[in-house]
Amino acid sequence: MSSTALRGIGMTSQRTRERMVGRLHEQGIKDEITLAALGSIARHIFVDEALSSRAYEDSSLPIGFGQTISQPYIVARMTEILRNGKPLEKVLEIGTGCGYQTAVLSKVAKEVYSVERIRPLLMKARGHLRELRLANIKLKHADGTMGLPEMAPFDGIIVTAAARHIPQELLEQLAVGGRMVIPVGTDEQTLYLIEHIKTTSGSEYRQSKLEAVKFVPLLGGTS
Ligand code: SAH
Repeated sequence: MSSTALRGIGMTSQRTRERMVGRLHEQGIKDEITLAALGSIARHIFVDEALSSRAYEDSSLPIGFGQTISQPYIVARMTEILRNGKPLEKVLEIGTGCGYQTAVLSKVAKEVYSVERIRPLLMKARGHLRELRLANIKLKHADGTMGLPEMAPFDGIIVTAAARHIPQELLEQLAVGGRMVIPVGTDEQTLYLIEHIKTTSGSEYRQSKLEAVKFVPLLGGTS
């Protein structure tokens, strides 16, 4: 890479990323670890070159195959909710897309598993994550509505596509003490937090509605 190109990346990356983090803080993201994670991942790596100048705007952008990279605010918000101020051990993401949220998660969890149903998107994500040399991530081409039973239970599950209802499989793969964030709905979508709580007689799931969101749909099967 030429030095001009390197300088170019410096311009679109470091300072712009700091500004993005400042904006997220103003928008109400309080968790310092989450903010630091977003500050450390070069978002422009995950979008096509033609869009890289817009990579740090607070908007979702197309990543091909009719899918989008989520806006920085929602990535930060979901990460903050999942963390709940504590380090995460094993996290499952449904909907890898371009891998940006996956990369952010790799900074706040020990192990990250991410499942994507569109194979060429998964290949792209793999390339991006390799470029950033993030080692604690495992990707799988599969239908995420089934979760990832072979690696369960997870202390965090994050779904980055909107479900019509909360898949039973995901509830079953959530560890006691674990948290899941999942957008639910079709035209009108709401972000839900599901907590798997220990009780005297066993455990129960507690559900809370957080805020209105806009995600691409969670679909069954693979392609
Ligand atoms: N996490 C991404 C968001 C990608 S958009 C980010 O950081 O920006 C949501 C992704 O979910 C799409 O790539 C879509 O193909 C995928 N998806 C939808 N239904 C799925 C399913 N059942 N299993 C796995 N991935 C799914």
